[in-house]
Amino acid sequence: MIFRIIKKEELEKLFELLASGSRVIGPVETGHDRNSDPIYEFSEVSNFSEIRLDHTMTKLPAKKYFLPYKEDLAAFHMKGRDWDKSVDYHCDSPSVFFGLHACDINAFNRLDKVLLGSSYPMPYYAAKRKNMFIVGVDCVPGPYCFCRSMGADTALQGFDLFVTDLGKTYFIEILSDTAFNFLKRIKTSEPVEADHVRYMDIVSKKNMKFEAHVDTTDLTKILDMEFQSDIWKYWGDKCLACGTCANVCPTCYCYSVEETVSLDLQSAKKTRQLYSCNIIDFAEVSGGHNFRPERQTRLKYRYYHKHRGFVEAYEDSLCVGCGRCGEACLADITVPKVISSVRGGAV
Ligand code: SF4
Ligand code: SF4
Repeated sequence: MIFRIIKKEELEKLFELLASGSRVIGPVETGHDRNSDPIYEFSEVSNFSEIRLDHTMTKLPAKKYFLPYKEDLAAFHMKGRDWDKSVDYHCDSPSVFFGLHACDINAFNRLDKVLLGSSYPMPYYAAKRKNMFIVGVDCVPGPYCFCRSMGADTALQGFDLFVTDLGKTYFIEILSDTAFNFLKRIKTSEPVEADHVRYMDIVSKKNMKFEAHVDTTDLTKILDMEFQSDIWKYWGDKCLACGTCANVCPTCYCYSVEETVSLDLQSAKKTRQLYSCNIIDFAEVSGGHNFRPERQTRLKYRYYHKHRGFVEAYEDSLCVGCGRCGEACLADITVPKVISSVRGGAV
C-alpha cells in the first residue's frame, strides 16, 4: 500500500479526471427524515458538489449498480424452425464508485467470494465488478453500525484508493496501479510523521464511537447448539416477513429465476430477481411443498446463512455490520439484539 497526502481542492480534480471516462456513482442527499436528519442514497452524479463525502449510512447500498433487483439474463428468438439466444451482461461503461464506506467495500469482498470465487461464478456480477474503480471514504459510526464487530470497519482490499479526512488535507491509501497513475496527475505529497499520527488519532476516536456491538466469539458453535432454541420462535413471531432486511442488505444475493414466453411463442426471456429468504414462498418448490412455512424457520435460516454457513464455507461472515437491516425493520429486529439473545442475553 502507498500513502499520499493531498490538499482538499485536489480531490475535486481527481473526481473530474475519473468522471471524464466513466460514469460516477456517489452518495447524495435526497431529503430529510422525520427527525430532520438527512437521507442519503447512491446515485449517478455529474458534478463533485453533488457528492456528500460526510454521508452517514445510506438507506440502500449501491447494490442496484452491480446486483440489480431485476435483470434479464438471456433472450430467445425464433428464426424459422431454429432459435437464437442472446446474452447481455448489462455493463456498458466503466463505473467509478466515489465515496463508499469500509463496510460497503467489505460487502464487495465477501460477495466476491461466492459470486466470483465459488464453483459457479456469476458472469453478470463479474462483468460489472471487473469494470469498477472504487474510492473509499472514512466515516463516523451511526447508532446502528456494528461493522467493527464484524471485522468490516476497515478495508484492506477491494478498493483503488481510500480517502480519510485529516481536517485540512486528505490522507490517501493507494491500492491499485490505476489509482497510482491517476494520482500522478494531481498534486500529492509524502505523508510526514504528523500526518500518520493524525490518521491514527482519527481511527482510534472512530473506534470509540460504536454504540452497537455483536459478540462473534465462537458464534458458529453457539448457533449449532441453539438450533432448536425457543428464541427463534420469539423473533419469528415478531417478524412481519416483509423481506425489507434482505432488500437493504449489501450482501444478500439470493434470487429466483423466471422464464416468460411471448403470446405468439416467437420469443422468450429469462429474468433473475433478487429475493428474500424471509418471504413466505422462498422455500416453496414445485408441487407446492414449502420447506420453511413458518416465519421463525425463515428468519433462522437467514441468520444461519450469514453467521454460520457462510463462515464455514468462506471463513467470513456474510454480514458486514452496516446496520441497515436493523434500522429498516418495522419490527425492530436487529442483528445485535438477535445474536445477543441467542447467546443467552435478555430480549
Ligand atoms: S425487515 Fe424485519 S420484519 Fe421484515 S422480514 Fe426482515 S426481520 Fe422480518
Ligand atoms: S445483515 Fe444487516 S447489518 Fe448485516 S450486512 Fe446485511 S443489512 Fe448490514
